Amino acid sequence: MKDETKCLRAGYTPKNGEPKVMPIVQSTTFRFDTVEDVAAVFDDPTLAYIYSRFANPTVDAVEKKIAALEGGVAAMCTSSGQAASMMSILTICKAGDSFVATSKIYGGTINLFAVTLKRFGIECIFVDPDIDEKEAVKYFKPNTRAVFGETLANPALAVLDIEKWARIAHSQGLPLIVDNTFPTPILCKPFEFGADIVVHSTTKYMDGHAVQGGGVIVDSGNFDWTNGKFPEFTEADESYHGIVYTRDYGKLAYILKARMQLMRDFGCYPSAHSAFLLNMGLETLAVRMERYCDNALKVAKFFESHEMVESVSYPALKGDRYHELAKKYLAKGSSGVISIDIKGGRANASKFINSLKMANNEVHVADICTCVLHPASETHRQLTDEQLVAAGINPATVRVSIGLENIDDILDDFKNALDSIK
Ligand SMILES: *Cc1c(COP(=O)(O)O)cnc(C)c1O
Repeated sequence: MKDETKCLRAGYTPKNGEPKVMPIVQSTTFRFDTVEDVAAVFDDPTLAYIYSRFANPTVDAVEKKIAALEGGVAAMCTSSGQAASMMSILTICKAGDSFVATSKIYGGTINLFAVTLKRFGIECIFVDPDIDEKEAVKYFKPNTRAVFGETLANPALAVLDIEKWARIAHSQGLPLIVDNTFPTPILCKPFEFGADIVVHSTTKYMDGHAVQGGGVIVDSGNFDWTNGKFPEFTEADESYHGIVYTRDYGKLAYILKARMQLMRDFGCYPSAHSAFLLNMGLETLAVRMERYCDNALKVAKFFESHEMVESVSYPALKGDRYHELAKKYLAKGSSGVISIDIKGGRANASKFINSLKMANNEVHVADICTCVLHPASETHRQLTDEQLVAAGINPATVRVSIGLENIDDILDDFKNALDSIK
């Protein structure tokens, strides 16, 4: 099946007389005839559902759909993108370990890695994503266990050279984890370029309608956990009846370890109703992504031509510093997100946003409706102008997320607001 078809048909296939639409299985638990039946599922949790803290039929259908879209062997949904990023690392790292993350990643992920995981005794080593391969390997230590990057960074809009980072990670015997939230599998499939694990905030384009938060971890099944660096994968898990993940589950070792250890213990699993809503978003993902990209390219070109716009970041634009990488990794388009610096600094950036009549001013991105955000006054308001610049954020930066309204209405709104600050 091609992507458009998978969006509609993967994950759930009704049998004769069954509901056409994937049902919401709103049940925390499942009934069995005998004690032995339940015991069998405890021995092999892939046999049946037992409890919706870590597996549920509605969520499972969505997991299968996303795994099919990414080209992975299996997926596990989480209650937020943050939970997916956290669990993608905690499945591999314990106290005393370190991992490498590229420095241009989502701000919430930076805080999770630099502050919260540090409190767990796990060190994150941040490295410039554009670094030379030979330089990069110098950052790895004997206790380094994974590499993490973001395909299209929020909000820097830097494109990750996935093949380069896969080579770096694999030369160290480590897996590459990629946050593929902005492109979605419609615009980029990181597994095709050597990534081993993919995470998403499904809150963004996958849901698309701003109705429920969520995340997902997808396993390519390609990484060799038996290379000697990952004893928790190759030795008996005493917390789970002596299961040996690589021996008993082969290509599913990582994703089953994530579910059976971490989801069992943390329980940050989405509800069936959330999964149902996410599925509706996924059904139209392929058509929506195409239109977001078309609209955003037109808006990016208009921004380039307007005298009140100092600079435009949008990798699909010729001349963008990531255009060459975008041609390789984001050949179908670079999503609906554009970053612009307004002439006249912080004050004019606020005035521009306040002058918009249609675009929503909100803390969100990758929505079906056009929206804008001023990082300096909103998400990063605790920082001084000097600190903002150090963090790579210009006080005049506005992050724009182009929606599916008619392109003429979108352009009119931006043109009127920019003209008003001349
Ligand atoms: C929003 C976002 C996250 C966090 O996702 P939540 O669903 O808000 O927890 C992670 N990565 C990227 C790239 C994001 O844009």
